Amino acid sequence: MDIAIDTSKSRYHIDKNGYYGRFGGAYVPEMLFPNVDELQHKYMEVLSDPAFQQEFEALLRDYVGRPSPLYFAKRLSEKYQAKIFLKREDLNHTGAHKVNNTIGQILLAKRLGKKRIIAETGAGQHGVATATVCALMGMECVVYMGSIDIERQAPNVSRMKMLGATVVAATSGSQTLKDATNEAIRDWINNPVDTHYILGTAAGPHPYPDMVARLQSVISEEIRKQLLEKTGSELPDYVVACIGGGSNAAGAFFHYLDEEEVKLVAVEAGGKGVHSGHSAATTQLGKIGIIHASKTLLMQTEDGQITEPYSISAGLDYPGIGPMHAHLYETGRAMFLDATDDEALAAAYELCKLEGIIPAMESAHALAKLKDLPFNPDDVVVVCLSGRGDKDLNTYIRHMNK
Ligand SMILES: *Cc1c(COP(=O)(O)O)cnc(C)c1O
Repeated sequence: MDIAIDTSKSRYHIDKNGYYGRFGGAYVPEMLFPNVDELQHKYMEVLSDPAFQQEFEALLRDYVGRPSPLYFAKRLSEKYQAKIFLKREDLNHTGAHKVNNTIGQILLAKRLGKKRIIAETGAGQHGVATATVCALMGMECVVYMGSIDIERQAPNVSRMKMLGATVVAATSGSQTLKDATNEAIRDWINNPVDTHYILGTAAGPHPYPDMVARLQSVISEEIRKQLLEKTGSELPDYVVACIGGGSNAAGAFFHYLDEEEVKLVAVEAGGKGVHSGHSAATTQLGKIGIIHASKTLLMQTEDGQITEPYSISAGLDYPGIGPMHAHLYETGRAMFLDATDDEALAAAYELCKLEGIIPAMESAHALAKLKDLPFNPDDVVVVCLSGRGDKDLNTYIRHMNK
């Protein structure tokens, strides 16, 4: 496995202080120092351990169902006049890419001697992926979730409870994801010795962005092998992924970051329009700031208050973006686009009709930009289909009848 690959010579990975260019770092309160320090010092040692890699690989294969297929989407390709492949993370156990990260982190937690797992969740997808691996390993699991999200995402709350997790309502602030994250951090401060915090995306303090990117990098490791088999080259012309915090994109981009001829395309949630006041297009609207202990791009008011994000897709409405992506944006290594709610809905219906696949609302944002990219007919395009659409059925039904 390449999850522990040496990236010290790359401009696009972290430096030895945990920064991507001027983004990243670990701006943690003093009381959290020991927890973060332990992780910073141990995560690469654990990820490099052959026994860890063997266990990780075996679970990804037999429990998650990896490698996920790289599917040549023939009818979609005809429509957009390029060779379009879908990386089928939607076929993973629990229905999305998130489980790659939770499996890796629970194995790490065990090796650090932790007995208890905490996590934050917005839509509940990361909560379910965490509750799943805690059941698998017989570990106590507490998931923090905004009380508004608990109401909005009732089926995922039931799933977490059925899997044995305790779901705790975050009742402060806007009662959504960022408040749940604050509560999880508070819990971690109070339980520094026995608890591991499984953060769900490539954000937060160093080492989380790099650690999560590495655990998700199995996505691009597989794409390279599968493309070689199918096209004779490991390198596509484009890799396209949606961005909430940035973990599926980080995984899909990881082994291509230094291959400058591969164009990387990140798609943010444009909501009701980037300038409508209802979006989550962080790179377009954001300024540098600190959120969840990381220096990154962040949607904020003139005086630095975090702006409420909005997207039709619960997995994308985060007011920040992981520091790797802030750096990829600033250096121009990746192209950042946005898709509105309506564009994403149209792309989701189109994938159903052309390919018989109901995508997650998040993944539909990536698909929505196929119409805007200047493809040549021979271009090989990989779209990361980060998850399946079962969880979004109510949204799809509501808009179908409009
Ligand atoms: C959570 C989620 C996302 C967004 O998270 P990233 O960390 O940006 O990948 C995207 N797609 C699906 C299906 C999700 O569940």
